Amino acid sequence: MLKTNPAFAASVKTASNFNAAACINCGSCTALCPLGVDLHPRTLFRYVLIGAEEKLLENTSVIYSCLLCRMCEDNCPADVPIAENIRSLRSYINRTRFGLMKG
Ligand code: SF4
Ligand code: SF4
Repeated sequence: MLKTNPAFAASVKTASNFNAAACINCGSCTALCPLGVDLHPRTLFRYVLIGAEEKLLENTSVIYSCLLCRMCEDNCPADVPIAENIRSLRSYINRTRFGLMKG
């Protein structure tokens, strides 16, 4: 069963500019990502928006594998700040899992 944490999305946004509200789930980001099938920004962002913290944390190694190359972002039809959002996810994990202040 999927557990959700209603405060999770707000916590990710703390001290960051996370914004995935405009995502239309088109899949272009995954199709263009040089890392291929392992990294699905739209799925990671959806986990945040629905409060699926555990599912996001299962993807910690994937989140840290992102090259921040912005290939996805440059071709996103909804202008989602994908790389910045991934930085926000790292910042959240750094704070909550590793006790660090900045991602
Ligand atoms: S390319 Fe942009 S709009 Fe399309 S799924 Fe990825 S983040 Fe969402
Ligand atoms: S910024 Fe990250 S998710 Fe986007 S294309 Fe580059 S490696 Fe893939």
